Amino acid sequence: MIPERIRRLKPYKTETSRAKVRLSSNELPYPVPEHLRKRIAEEIARVPFERYPDPTASELKEVLGEFFGVREENIVLGNGSDELIYYLSAVVGDVGGIYTPVPTFPMYEISADVMGRKKVTVPLTADFDIDLESSLGLADMYSLAYFAFPNNPTGNLFSRDRIRKIRERGVFVVLDEAYYHYSGETFLEDALRREDTAVLRTLSKIGMAGLRVGVLIAKEEVAREINKVRLPFNITYPSQVIAKVMLTEGREFIEESVEKVVTERERVFRELATIEGVEPFPSRANFILFRTPYPADAVHSRMLSYGVLVRDVSYMPRLERCLRVSVGRPEENDAFLEALYRSVRDLGQRFAG
Ligand SMILES: *Cc1c(COP(=O)(O)O)cnc(C)c1O
Repeated sequence: MIPERIRRLKPYKTETSRAKVRLSSNELPYPVPEHLRKRIAEEIARVPFERYPDPTASELKEVLGEFFGVREENIVLGNGSDELIYYLSAVVGDVGGIYTPVPTFPMYEISADVMGRKKVTVPLTADFDIDLESSLGLADMYSLAYFAFPNNPTGNLFSRDRIRKIRERGVFVVLDEAYYHYSGETFLEDALRREDTAVLRTLSKIGMAGLRVGVLIAKEEVAREINKVRLPFNITYPSQVIAKVMLTEGREFIEESVEKVVTERERVFRELATIEGVEPFPSRANFILFRTPYPADAVHSRMLSYGVLVRDVSYMPRLERCLRVSVGRPEENDAFLEALYRSVRDLGQRFAG
């Protein structure tokens, strides 16, 4: 009774290997400071767990509206943006397929499979931008398009102009701005003005991955419709309470941490380029994609033996011999650079001999 498209799905896998230095999931590397933890503990102690949480999470939405500079009417909350991607794929452009450039974040394709919608995947150009000609050539086949902006795992921003040209074909475009705080680039104005554009943001990459809070921003008329399919209590009570404290009293901590990560990103990029045979790709996010001369799985396991976990993304189209590293604290980044240097040296000896 279970349809073939579901049987063919593979369970979503993340990196679970143990390692001293974990740089595989693009989390914020700085732990929440003690004074904030105390404040959160106080607030949590008051949560009446026996009650359902506020189904509209209105206090959290107010704080989020302030944080992102939008009105509450423009917001739909998800249990992570992953959940919002499911909602969008269920609701928007009912007929017609779903477009994604590849390689990109896997959830767009997974949501299309789950909802039984046709997938239109178009490989990126050699410099990881949208292949406009092929995308427009197939435009009759899709009504919804996802663009991670900046893209994961390549780290670059697609040309705005190419996204607009695809939208001009009557396609609803979703800009997944999970890394907005690291890029500073956004389609927010379009999302607030137009009925064919939505922006996704998340708290996951700015220190709150464990809370599972994703934010969809769209014109009120669009947000209202998507909100109808939202599961009623999808943001848990503790998450609502913790996110509120973090986004108000913790705002300085978040901003300072993001700034440190951006500074480190530039340093790690420069240092990567000095390792023989390693080619890093410029990034506007909190991770860096890089290519090495050797099979990525060999580099990955070698680095793990030195206590550093990164993500092997070489299974994705165009990314042969590529890995992705999240930017960590300075000492973690040093450990990463050292482990990569040694791994490349070890493998050089093995492959030469
Ligand atoms: C990490 C990431 C997300 C985050 O998803 P959450 O469910 O909010 O944790 C969304 N989109 C992209 C492109 C990402 O890289």
